[in-house]
Amino acid sequence: MPTKKAQYNISEADLFMNEVEQRSGQNLSACYQCRRCAAGCPVGMQTRVTPDRLVRMIMLGSRDEALNNLLVWKCVACYTCGTRCPNNIQTARITETLKQMAKEAGIDPLIHRTADFNSAFMQAAGHLGRFNELEGMAIYETKSMLKDIKKGDLKSIITEIKDQAQLGLVMAEKKRLHLKFDRVKNLSEIKTMYKKAKSSKKEDMQ
Ligand code: SF4
Ligand code: SF4
Repeated sequence: MPTKKAQYNISEADLFMNEVEQRSGQNLSACYQCRRCAAGCPVGMQTRVTPDRLVRMIMLGSRDEALNNLLVWKCVACYTCGTRCPNNIQTARITETLKQMAKEAGIDPLIHRTADFNSAFMQAAGHLGRFNELEGMAIYETKSMLKDIKKGDLKSIITEIKDQAQLGLVMAEKKRLHLKFDRVKNLSEIKTMYKKAKSSKKEDMQ
């Protein structure tokens, strides 16, 4: 006969998994831990959390661990894991969902620059319907540097300015820097998509 405490834990785990499944659109229950996804993940060795481990954490209801691990922040959304998965589980959609959930839960991201870039990308892409490097990087650098200023981390600020200036020069030389503020033809459709995503997120949380 399960104790009251055990019943509570099971229900919390189920709620967490259901939320991730709904928001990411992935059927995690289909995972049978074959680890095909793990073999192809380019960042798995570095993060020490492979896609199969992440799915397992969610299935077991290890909320804190799932919302705060390096794979969530280092996943490059290459979709290799999903291509190899016999059950078509796309971990890139799961890591994206977990990023949002960690943000909503007020969890300090393990890599704040990735979190800032993610948020700047979403903001800039939502504005013009496509990512403009100038706008996106301005938002990203402001967010990121404000945090470094708060921490008094002058060294990080100088390194970041040097790195980004160097990268900017290389991109300009290769004519890969698009400074024109082009917008997509059907911007209203993108805005509607953003609105819909935001309102469905609120509904999920109710
Ligand atoms: S490949 Fe798919 S089914 Fe296999 S462990 Fe990874 S997520 Fe699970
Ligand atoms: S999408 Fe993310 S989790 Fe999947 S293989 Fe690529 S980096 Fe790894």
